[in-house]
Amino acid sequence: MKYSRQEILSKKTVAVVGVGTIGTVTSALVNKLGVNLILIDRDVVEIHNLENQILYAKEDVDKPKAIVAAEKLRDVNPRIKIESFCEDLTFENIDLLDKADIVLDCTDNLETRFLINDYCLSKNKPWIYAAGIKTKCTLMNFTGKGVCFRCIFKETTGLGTCETEGIANQTAIAVGSLQVKNALQILVGETVDEEMLRLDIMTSKMEKIKVQKRKDCKACAGEYEFLEGRKGTKAIKLCGKEIYQIKETVDFNKFKKDNSYFVTIKNITLFKDGRALVKAKNEKEARSAYSKLIGN
Ligand SMILES: [Zn+2]
Repeated sequence: MKYSRQEILSKKTVAVVGVGTIGTVTSALVNKLGVNLILIDRDVVEIHNLENQILYAKEDVDKPKAIVAAEKLRDVNPRIKIESFCEDLTFENIDLLDKADIVLDCTDNLETRFLINDYCLSKNKPWIYAAGIKTKCTLMNFTGKGVCFRCIFKETTGLGTCETEGIANQTAIAVGSLQVKNALQILVGETVDEEMLRLDIMTSKMEKIKVQKRKDCKACAGEYEFLEGRKGTKAIKLCGKEIYQIKETVDFNKFKKDNSYFVTIKNITLFKDGRALVKAKNEKEARSAYSKLIGN
């Protein structure tokens, strides 16, 4: 029996990791495909996000992005199933991706990408990398057949750091829509290339680069250091803003007021998983506010 394209898609699940500037574009477009959707993001909406993250409005400030994005997308397309997780994706909760047929990377850091790479290689699951700075963006499909992300990026450079320059809205829309186009092709079983696509929307110049598999790549050899939690120290400073993430063992129930998944205490947002986001000028100030208001 031959299934229609829409029937095939209705049985598929797409995970979008990171619902920021690129991720809001990607998830809004995925939402129209008629697939099931999983949204994961560790962050809350900040006032300056309203300038470039298309799903958020003034009343969403200080609320978790994953939750707000899911609500908005359900409004637009109530027929599809959306699960959202306000969590920091780590090797400990990576099974959040188990239901996904494809993972769309819209994160802002290499460490999570190494983790996604390990996970997808181990599960033989495709994923698509998308990144951008200002007017330039990069996109690449990883289907597990060719080169992997760790063949290209050495973990020693830039781990835990991220760009503070930001990505132009038009760039995010360009790379997000290409990412979803490629995802659609993969989901319906079409063959996609595994070359690195680079686009500068300022010059409209697009190039594709053939990338070689690295002979000594550990991930390709089945050594999943990030998935096993052997590599990677979680950067405490989140990207491009004065927000620090602190993760300690905390009794969330002690602080929560109702059935909510997060609670705001002055400049701290505390989540169910014990994670706290602290608005502060530096790490010292963040730590001190944390110990005063939360304890430890
Ligand atoms: Zn590799």
